[in-house]
Amino acid sequence: MEPPNIERLDERTVQRIAAGEVVERPASVVKELIENSLDAGASRVAVSVEAGGTEGVRVRDDGVGIPEDQLEAAVAEHATSKIGDIEDLDRGVGTLGFRGEALYTVGAVSRLTVRSRPPGAAAGAEITVDGGDVGDVRPAGCPEGTTVEVDDLFYNTPARKKFLKRTATEFDRVNTVVTGYALANPDVAVSLEHDGRETFATEGNGDLRSAVLAVYGREVAEAMVDVAWAPDGDGDPTGPDAADPPVRGVSGLVSHPETTRSTREYLATYVNGRYVTASALREAVLDAYGGQLAPDRYPFAVLFVEVPPGDVDVNVHPRKLEVRFDEEPAVREAVEGAVEEALLDHGLIRSTAPRG
Ligand code: ADP
Ligand code: MG
Repeated sequence: MEPPNIERLDERTVQRIAAGEVVERPASVVKELIENSLDAGASRVAVSVEAGGTEGVRVRDDGVGIPEDQLEAAVAEHATSKIGDIEDLDRGVGTLGFRGEALYTVGAVSRLTVRSRPPGAAAGAEITVDGGDVGDVRPAGCPEGTTVEVDDLFYNTPARKKFLKRTATEFDRVNTVVTGYALANPDVAVSLEHDGRETFATEGNGDLRSAVLAVYGREVAEAMVDVAWAPDGDGDPTGPDAADPPVRGVSGLVSHPETTRSTREYLATYVNGRYVTASALREAVLDAYGGQLAPDRYPFAVLFVEVPPGDVDVNVHPRKLEVRFDEEPAVREAVEGAVEEALLDHGLIRSTAPRG
């Protein structure tokens, strides 16, 4: 055997390999773009995709926009307006993004256009990135806000492209992502369109039940009951007893035990506004139903858990949605108790012997 010949990879190869770590499929692009729109304070976010997102993804918002002279920075590596240094991260970030790598990464493996006009600006401008090649900033006619278009995802990484599933499967994943943000942000009008046909559109009127109605339909919306829990039950988080409770609140909606589906997908949990898949939270919700669910059936839930920002690790891998809690037992207990109370209040479960 010949001795190995070790060589440094060229920049483009490194860039594309790294991109595959963050952007796995159209749904991951949609996630990043929606997060940017929400971080930009948008009150409307319109998502439209072609062929499950494999051919095109477009996200338009009415947020703060990107000034013409910052478009280049927006698509540059490790460039962000959201944190300055690692201390900002330790304090807990208030934005969904902070790595400054989404637009750069997406631009490396697609044809990307970022077009923007900050509110009040006389004109808009756009920048394109084609497989990592950054073009010039050009004037562009556009409404106030930002539109990001991603075409031909993975056209230059055929191995990645081959890994994509059928159009319908990719769209399902896109739908799950957009739904997740629509429910987490009932004050934002979120819409989704697939191949020119509207999938759903929330009103953005701030009412969670109205968002559930738009996304899941009337039958589900009517089967949901309110969950509202605060430490000490006095709802005063500034009270002396509640100096620094490990759980600041649990709220949202959960379904009647007979309104279920066969997958866990509709059991949506959020920690400090961020969509997460924490098995601890799911189990706590299921435990609250105390055996009232049919085997292998899962309820609908849209559940928001608030914990002190320092008690939850959000600095996990960008593609992963799992979180770690410092005070997991307390979080589990609060969630189970909150859901159980809501179900009991509505007579949807029978009260049993005290838990313990
Ligand atoms: P991050 O979100 O981690 O900062 P991104 O690559 O997603 O990194 O975005 C880079 C920067 O571009 C953001 O910090 C923000 O300043 C700007 N930006 C991206 N999308 C939008 C948008 N929809 N509206 C306003 N600014 C945006
Ligand atoms: Mg981002």
